[in-house]
Amino acid sequence: MRKNTRSDDYERRKQDRLHRLGTDLPRCAICGNADWRVIEEHHPAGRKQHKLKIHVCANCHKILSDNQKDHPNTERAADDVLARIGNFLLGFADMLAVILEHLYEFGETVIARANAANAERAK
Ligand SMILES: [Zn+2]
Repeated sequence: MRKNTRSDDYERRKQDRLHRLGTDLPRCAICGNADWRVIEEHHPAGRKQHKLKIHVCANCHKILSDNQKDHPNTERAADDVLARIGNFLLGFADMLAVILEHLYEFGETVIARANAANAERAK
């Protein structure tokens, strides 16, 4: 059973996490999850390619990081700038693909609820 009061340790963990994330209001850029305990930092272009980080939940982070494994490898003699831009574009395309999945899911859910509300009114 969940306790009604939070421990000092809980509050310390929360403040440490928020400090590391650099915000008091962390939110997943993909699905909107705002539970600080699951928010992580993701490098859309890959850690080695670009320093930009975004906040995503652990679930979305696993999906995005797994998708990055399918990006083409950069050859050792490749142009660094072009490779960085290419990985950046692929990383954001991955994010848009995950967002698109959520948009379909959310849209279908809203329509199903609209239909259920209509059926309830017709009774
Ligand atoms: Zn998420």
